[in-house]
Amino acid sequence: MVEFAEMFKDIDVNYCQYKPEIIQVERNGDLDRAKEQISSDFWLTKVSTELEKAKEILGKKFECNSYKLEDLIMSPKNYGRNYKECIGSQFQPCVGADGNVYVCTNHRGHKEYSYGNIAEKSFKQIWADLKTRSCVMNKINHKEKFKNCSQLCKPHESNKILWAIKENQNDKKFDEEMKLKSKQLKKKIIHHNFI
Ligand code: SF4
Repeated sequence: MVEFAEMFKDIDVNYCQYKPEIIQVERNGDLDRAKEQISSDFWLTKVSTELEKAKEILGKKFECNSYKLEDLIMSPKNYGRNYKECIGSQFQPCVGADGNVYVCTNHRGHKEYSYGNIAEKSFKQIWADLKTRSCVMNKINHKEKFKNCSQLCKPHESNKILWAIKENQNDKKFDEEMKLKSKQLKKKIIHHNFI
C-alpha cells in the first residue's frame, strides 16, 4: 500500500481505492487465513499502520472511509450483521465465468445460489424470474440465516441501511434523520463513488 502511495503522490490521479480482499473463507476450510482476515488485530496492527504511512505521503489526497473497521472492532460476534434479509444483493448480482448469475460474488461457484445461466436464457429472463430469485434468497435469509455468507461482504453496508429503511418505512422521524444524514455525508465524502 505504501509503495502505491509513493507512486501516486506526484501524479494527478483524482482518486484510487484500496479494498481488502474478502475471500469465501467460511466455506473453503482455510480457517487460519479466515482468522487473519477477520481479526480486528490484523487490521489494527498491520493495516492501520500502513494507512498512517500512506496518509503522511499523500497529505490532502488521502481519504479513508474506514467504517468497516468499526464493525470488526465494535461487533466481534456478528460483525455488524443486524439485518434479517440480504436486500443489497438484489442490486448487484454476479455473473460467473461459468455463465451462472449468482446472488453475489461470495456465493460464486456454488450452483445452489445461481438464478440461472446466461448460456440457457437471457439475463433479462433470468432476472425477471422472481420465483427462482425468491427461492434462492429465502434459502439464504430464512433457512440458512446467512450461515454460508462471508462476513463483511460487499453489500454488507447496503444491507444494513436497506434493512433499516424497510423496518422504518412508516416512521417519519427516521425519514427526516436519514435526509439529514444524507446531506451531511454529501459534504463529508469528497468522492461519492468511494464506498
Ligand atoms: S454474502 Fe452478503 S451479499 Fe452474499 S448473500 Fe450473503 S449477505 Fe448477501
